[in-house]
Amino acid sequence: MKRALNFNAGPAALPEAVLAKAEKEMMNYQGSGMGVMELSHRSKEFEEINQLTKNLLRNLLTIPDEYEILFLQGGASLQFSMIPMNLLEEGSTASYVLTGTWSEKALKEAQKVGNAVIAASSKNANYRSIPNPSEIDVSAESSYLHITTNNTIFGTQWHTLPEDLAIPLVADMSSDILSRPLNLSSYGLIYAGAQKNLGPSGVTVVIIHKDLLKRSRSGLPSMLNYQVHADSQSLYNTPPTLSIYLLMLVLQWAEELGGVKQLELLSKQKSALLYDAIDRSEGFYTGHAEKGSRSRMNVTFTLENDSVASSFLHEAEEYGFIGLAGHRSVGGCRASIYNAVPLENVEKLADFMNRFRSRN
Ligand code: PMP
Repeated sequence: MKRALNFNAGPAALPEAVLAKAEKEMMNYQGSGMGVMELSHRSKEFEEINQLTKNLLRNLLTIPDEYEILFLQGGASLQFSMIPMNLLEEGSTASYVLTGTWSEKALKEAQKVGNAVIAASSKNANYRSIPNPSEIDVSAESSYLHITTNNTIFGTQWHTLPEDLAIPLVADMSSDILSRPLNLSSYGLIYAGAQKNLGPSGVTVVIIHKDLLKRSRSGLPSMLNYQVHADSQSLYNTPPTLSIYLLMLVLQWAEELGGVKQLELLSKQKSALLYDAIDRSEGFYTGHAEKGSRSRMNVTFTLENDSVASSFLHEAEEYGFIGLAGHRSVGGCRASIYNAVPLENVEKLADFMNRFRSRN
C-alpha cells in the first residue's frame, strides 16, 4: 500500500510501524479478546498501558522523580487556561514571551484568569525570530514565565532557553517535545498536545514539578485541577484510552530508534536538507524565520509571488506531497517534519524543490 508523503502540521504522520502494530492489536489486545478501546479504563490491561506510557516518557526525557506526568484532555489549548488557573498566585502576575499565534492565545486566556503581562515579544518582526533570553523582562514577583519552545505557524524555535530563573518556567512544547534532550530541572511545567510528535490527537501530556501542585486551589473545578489529576494517576475520569495506547506505541518506537538523541540527529538532518534547498536557491525560496531562530520541526518559506507559490503547491500535490500550504497568517509554504516523517520523504521534498526551481 502506498503511504502519503505527509507534511501536515498536526495531526501529522505517525510511524508506519506504530500503525501496523495498532492494526494487528485492534481486534484482540494481548489475548484479551478485546480491542484497546473496548477495555475498561479500570482494567489491569489499561492500568498497565497507562503506567508503561508514563515510564517510557520518564526514561526518554529523563524526567526526575520530583515531576508528575499527567495525561489530560482538551488539547494544548485547555492548558492555556489551566496553567493560570492553577499556577497564577493571588495578587501576582504571569509573564508571557510572545513568539507567535499560540503564545498570543496563551496570554489571552491567562488574562481572562488574572493579571498576565508580556515579558518580551518578536511580534514587530512578524515573529521571524525568538527574543534573546537577555531581553526578557521577568519580574521576580511573577508567578511564572511562559514560553512556546517551537512556533508551529511561523517556523521558529528556541535554541537557547532561559535558564536559572528565579520563577518557574512554563513551556508549550506541543510541536517540538521529544525532538531534543531536555534539561527538565529548568522548568516548572511543560505541556504538549500529542498530535505532532507524540501520537494522535486526544491526549495532552503535562509534566509538572510536584511543588507546583500545591498551588492548585481546592475550589477549582475538579477537571481543571492538576492536583486532582495527579492524585488519581490521570484516571480521575475516563481517559482517552486509545490515544494513550498509541502514545505508548510511539514512545516504544522512539526508544527502539535510539531515543531523543537519535531523534535530534534526524531532525537536524531533515531540516538541513530543506534549509539548504532554500539557501542555495538564490532567493527563489525565502525562509520566513531568521537563521538563528529556524525551527527543525516546521520549515516555513515563501516564493517570489502568489502565482509561483500556487503552481509550486499544485505540482507538489500532483507529486503526492500533502500539507505543504503555509498557515494563512504567514502564507507561502510550510513543511512539518516531525519525528515520524521519514528522512527519505524529506529527501524527496528537497529534490522536488530543487527541480521546481530549475524549471521556473
Ligand atoms: N500550541 C502549539 C505550539 C500548537 O502548535 C498548537 C496546535 N497547532 C496548539 C498549542 C494548540 O493545540 P490543540 O489544538 O491541541 O489545542
